[in-house]
Parts: sequence; C-alpha cells; structure tokens
Amino acid sequence: MATPQSHFRFLAFSLSIIHISLFLSTTATQLPLLEEQDTPITHFQRYLRINTAHPTPDYTSAVSFLKAQAQSLGLKTQTLEFVQGKPVLLLTWPGSNPSLPSLLLNSHLDSVPAEPEKWLHNPFSAHRTASGAIFARGAQDDKCIAIQYLEAIRNLKSQSFTPHRTIHISLVPDEEIGGIDGAAKFVESEEFNGLNVGFALDEGQASPGDEFRVFYSDRVPWNVKIRAKGRPGHGSRMYDGSAVENLMESVEVVSRFRESQFDVVKAGKALNGEVVSVNPVYVKAGVVSEDGFAMNVQPSEAEAGFDLRLTPTTDPEEMRRRIAEEWAPAVRNMSYEVRFLMGNVAVSFRHLSSMLSLAAFFVQVGF
Ligand SMILES: [Zn+2]
Repeated sequence: MATPQSHFRFLAFSLSIIHISLFLSTTATQLPLLEEQDTPITHFQRYLRINTAHPTPDYTSAVSFLKAQAQSLGLKTQTLEFVQGKPVLLLTWPGSNPSLPSLLLNSHLDSVPAEPEKWLHNPFSAHRTASGAIFARGAQDDKCIAIQYLEAIRNLKSQSFTPHRTIHISLVPDEEIGGIDGAAKFVESEEFNGLNVGFALDEGQASPGDEFRVFYSDRVPWNVKIRAKGRPGHGSRMYDGSAVENLMESVEVVSRFRESQFDVVKAGKALNGEVVSVNPVYVKAGVVSEDGFAMNVQPSEAEAGFDLRLTPTTDPEEMRRRIAEEWAPAVRNMSYEVRFLMGNVAVSFRHLSSMLSLAAFFVQVGF
C-alpha cells in the first residue's frame, strides 16, 4: 500500500480488499480436487506462488501468468516497460462507447519481503487449510485485488455483459518501494494519456467482512518537526532571535495556514478530508532543573511537532517548500524534518531540494 503512498494522485479512489473468504466456501474433502481445477481460488493460488517479494520480485512470471489469464478472457494486453525489468501490464476490455472516459482498475505486482521461518506455512506455497484460509505473502496486499478484477470480468462476460465505458486494468511494479519506476512513470506516459481515464480504483484497506468500502480523498500523513536555535541567555535580558521566540514566530505562521484551511471547512466549502490539516502535537523547550524548568534561562533550542495530512491533490514538493521557506526558514536558524510512509517504509527528509531525488536515493540504497 502506498505514495508518494498513493501514487495515483490523479484520482485517489481506493477500493477495500474483499475478504478472500468470499471464494472459500468449499469443504476440506474437496480440496485435493479443487487444487487441480480452474477456479478463482486456484487462479489466486497460482498467482500467489509467484514470488514477487522485494528485493528480487519475479515480475516476468507474474506478468506472463496474468497475461495468460487476461487472454483467456479475451482482453487486450500490452506490456509497457519504462524501466528495464519493471513491466507495467495493461489489460483492456473495450466498452460499447469507447469515446467515453474510461475506468481504470489498478493493482501492484510486488509485495513486501517475507521471513519464511516465522510463517506457519511457506509464504509462497499459497497453502490452503481445511477451513479455507490461504497463507501467502501478498495475499491481501494485494494479489487478491488483481484476481478479483479478472474474476469479476469473467463473471460479467459469462452473462454477456458489455460495459459502456472501456475498462483498463493496470498491474504495476515497485509500489512497495515508492512506485518510481512503475506507476509514477506510467501516469506521466503518452500511453496513460491515451487511456482518457475518468475514474480509477486502487487498493485500500482489508475488510474483515464481506462489505466493500470505497474511500476517496484519502490523505497522506506527514509527521513534521521544526526546530529553532538561538542565542542562549539569562532570563532577565531581551535578546533578538532567541530559540523560543523563533519557534513561536513559526508556530504563528503554521497556525495561520491551519486557519486558512479550517476556514474553508467551517464555511461549508469543503469536507475535513478535502483540505490539508495541520495540528500541533508537542512543543519541547526549556532547561530542565530539579523542580521542573529553570525559570531564568532562555534555552538555545526549541522544537515543535505537527501532524500534517496532505490531500490527494496537494503537491508534496510545494508543501515541502512551504515548510522550508515559511515554517522553518534557515535564515532564522530553523530546521525541519518530515517523516512519512513510502510504501510500507518510513522515510524522513531534511532540507532536500527535491522529493524525487530523495525517493531515488532510497530506492538506490535498497529500501
Ligand atoms: Zn498494496
């Protein structure tokens, strides 16, 4: 899961994962037979047995498996390779009115690594228990999604259904490591532009029941720390640019930004999830003494933390620039640190000129 957690920022809709037990209604005595059958469950198991875990995902086998499945459904297939060895598989079910904006269903090919010795069953065996549970890395996140797309199409086709709009399925690599060589390249491509996407669905959260939960305006959390340094001094003197004074000035700037966003919500022009929220979560300063804090010392450092949530349409680079230039300007001896999740990996950055160079760095060092 993702973006840069959600790289599909163009339309950040996400689909909750159906509980895989939807497919698992057969009894234990039928299992050996089922393994040999061509069913949604066996398709799912076959996909799970292809090891697409990092750091060496087998994209070739995954793509050839999914391509064969798609061809058995009569879907058009196209393999795009923006970076060598990182295929994007694009499947298309033409609609009866292809001039309408299309529907895009996305799923990622890769999964996070597994530690087999800690598993009850080999994480790439797709072992199915008598109760119908399947053990496999990537089962929920998110190979069940790709199989559900394909099986839903199989089901609809068996009923002779033809969609009005063209439906595309994109199967992308490297989502778990930021998607830089996968979805990020795909959405910038001419091929993507040509799809005329009007609506997209991506993975979401697993659901313990049978319901589908669809989310939109899913925001990206950033943990932001700003630090101020200043001249330490006696509490009796007024200095210019002390650390706490510096920090307070920044807190006021952050508060004004917060108000500008909150005002839109209060005026009924947007929902909470449609604006960038920022809330102070801690303030840290002071020289510790035996009974609390020294009351006659101005500290040389002060720090504040904020919970920041970016909307799908927020430009992360613009937000970073705002933090660097307005919330923690170096000219006032301020610094900042931002932490967020890239895939399932916690990433932090300080004073980097570009989010992309940061992402590239983490990919290079093997996160
Ligand atoms: Zn995922």
